[in-house]
Amino acid sequence: MKTHFGRVLCLALLAATATAQGKPPPPPLPYDLAFEATAVPTDRLMRARLRMGPNQVDRMVFRIDPERHKNLRADGKLVVEGRSASWEPPRAGGSLRYEFRVDRLRNASSYDARISEQWAIFRGGDLFPPARVIAQEGSYSRSTLRLRVPEGWSIAVPYERLSKGTYRIENPYRRFDRPTAWMALGRLGVLRERIAGSNVTLAGPFRQKLRRDDLLAMLRWNLPSLRSVLGALPERMLVVGAGDPMWRGGLSGPASAFIHAERPLITPDGTSPILHELFHAASGAHATIDGDWVVEGLAELYSIELLVRSHTMSRARFDRMIRRIEARGAEAKLLGHDSHGASTARAITVLRKLDAELRGRTEQQKTLDDVVAELARKRQAVSTASFRATAEQVSGLDLATFFKTQVEPILERNRQ
Ligand SMILES: [Zn+2]
Repeated sequence: MKTHFGRVLCLALLAATATAQGKPPPPPLPYDLAFEATAVPTDRLMRARLRMGPNQVDRMVFRIDPERHKNLRADGKLVVEGRSASWEPPRAGGSLRYEFRVDRLRNASSYDARISEQWAIFRGGDLFPPARVIAQEGSYSRSTLRLRVPEGWSIAVPYERLSKGTYRIENPYRRFDRPTAWMALGRLGVLRERIAGSNVTLAGPFRQKLRRDDLLAMLRWNLPSLRSVLGALPERMLVVGAGDPMWRGGLSGPASAFIHAERPLITPDGTSPILHELFHAASGAHATIDGDWVVEGLAELYSIELLVRSHTMSRARFDRMIRRIEARGAEAKLLGHDSHGASTARAITVLRKLDAELRGRTEQQKTLDDVVAELARKRQAVSTASFRATAEQVSGLDLATFFKTQVEPILERNRQ
């Protein structure tokens, strides 16, 4: 028996164990797992069901939100305690059912998930909560997503469509594959186009003024530059957008992003909210421990870098914008958690210095792009230390002095 979270890590561990004991690795044991949800706009919820085929799963322990995941019932044994729901599915298969309250306020008056009579926008990772899976060695899920919606509604998700309303969920980084991306359901305006090797979908409710065509043009100009940095883009990407009362900002998810319909494509300080979110979505780099300054700084820096590389913005204007950003961040600390505003501006300054350091000491052979490409390749959880390790690995340089003088003195590690 073993607990597993990540397919890559787990297979590596299995291989190592098998070699050490001279035994072959256990045979792969797939089980079918169908994530199903029906939109019920009149009750402002999604009725959700996890349907599992014959399996070797002893227990799945879900981390639920008791305010949003309600009325859980299941075949087999189910114990719900606070934020934990422990399910022992029957060996022959069975299902877990619950209701998901879609609406969630992000602050006093705006939502980061919402269902109305006409549409629903939310993260799949909230609808289907994360779980720790205790199962026989070698077992992994073959997951699908099935969405049922009222007559006249469309579905926008960044997954491969198998049949009407059914999608394949495949995450090579996990053994328990679940749909975590942003989803939009409803009476939607949808644009789909292949850009830089990725099937890009832009979706927003009708009559919500999401400027899909402007967004599409913006992505056509800039995604090729993003692909050049990262090496490859996700096979599918989704941008969902809506107006009030949704939150007036941008939020990323795996291969997907939400953007408020009234956010500009480019802000007065030269950065781009949509490119910032898509950098997060496509790079997969996420902060851990004290790495938020790195992750937010990179997203903000590349949101302006991409504009100049694609000739959307002139080099002279870029230089002016960068000077302004550096002035704004001059007195700020780097924040290990919740980096924003002046702190992210400071992070841009530090990341640009690191780029200059790499270029200067490798005769222009290595740059910050190479570090970013490696973070994206590893879908890395980024701390200050792991960022330094990746930069050193990519460049072959010792960066101890750089981090000791340019990062450590201004890094605020504790949560504010
Ligand atoms: Zn961000």
